[in-house]
Amino acid sequence: MTDRLTIRRPDDWHVHLRDGAMLAHVAPYTARQFARAIVMPNLSPPVTTVAEGRAYRERIVAAIPAALDFTPLIVAYLTDGTDAEEMARGHAEGVFTAAKLYPAHATTGSAHGVTDVANIMGVLERMADIGMPLLIHGEVTDHDVDIFDREALFIDRTLAPLVARLPELKIVFEHITTAEAAQFVADAPANVAATITPQHLHINRNAMLVGGIRPHAYCLPVAKREHHRLAVRAAATSGSPKFFLGTDSAPHAVHTKEAPCGCAGIFNAPFALESYIAAFDEDGALDRFEGFASEHGPRFYGLPLNQGTITLERGATVVPDRIGDVVPFHAGETLGWRIV
Ligand SMILES: [Zn+2]
Repeated sequence: MTDRLTIRRPDDWHVHLRDGAMLAHVAPYTARQFARAIVMPNLSPPVTTVAEGRAYRERIVAAIPAALDFTPLIVAYLTDGTDAEEMARGHAEGVFTAAKLYPAHATTGSAHGVTDVANIMGVLERMADIGMPLLIHGEVTDHDVDIFDREALFIDRTLAPLVARLPELKIVFEHITTAEAAQFVADAPANVAATITPQHLHINRNAMLVGGIRPHAYCLPVAKREHHRLAVRAAATSGSPKFFLGTDSAPHAVHTKEAPCGCAGIFNAPFALESYIAAFDEDGALDRFEGFASEHGPRFYGLPLNQGTITLERGATVVPDRIGDVVPFHAGETLGWRIV
């Protein structure tokens, strides 16, 4: 039995670090676990221009203790009015690593999102030309579509036609939660990949709804049935280079989660690696953990692999009930791995 695992330093390919006091509170947790992170741009107002991206990067760097070696990778937020030139300039100047497509009103801070992909086709064509990845929150937002069906329907209505229309465009289907999404990505060409969160490896919708409503297990895309969890988990541990680590850590103050209309998001950054490795261990896939955590992501993005290493070993990690004003994922649980 493997009791200790040393891997290349990992990256988080999907995180919400927020801004202001929350940024200062949560960013060090991500920087302790990861060398780099794709930082999502759904601030209010969202990060849409090169100047805003540069300023946000500076605020993130200022929020992280100098002793931690961490590089934030900034993402542009696409709107119906996004200018292709601005995206290309941001990418050329090393400010924007990628651009994010939020269907309008899909999740926290997406009111400015794209109402129809046709509106940004010129931008996407330009991104395909320059090799700038498109990151997608893949859910339809039509009111008549059941929330548990929104991801699968997005594939048919938007993603499959987009992949066919722009076969060169690098696409990351973010935080996949369904068997349909895992299958679509596995069958798609090499320029289509997906991130997977720790929560979608560990919980199904029962975690939210059985024995009382549990707002801290609520995120978007919402956790689905057990067979979807198993399919997503099989994808993560498959060794396929199309699947990689993206926590979607999304902190909200406790009073905004425990409310009549609680916010969507799970704060998993403080113990993300301990959570992921527990799933790989349970599935007998520890030998595939380094690929998922540290190699598939940078290779997809065309970035260098990290040079340092991190070691995890069997041992108790006690997850506290609260971290500041935020309830973390696995609150009150003891995880079976710890970072050395
Ligand atoms: Zn997210």
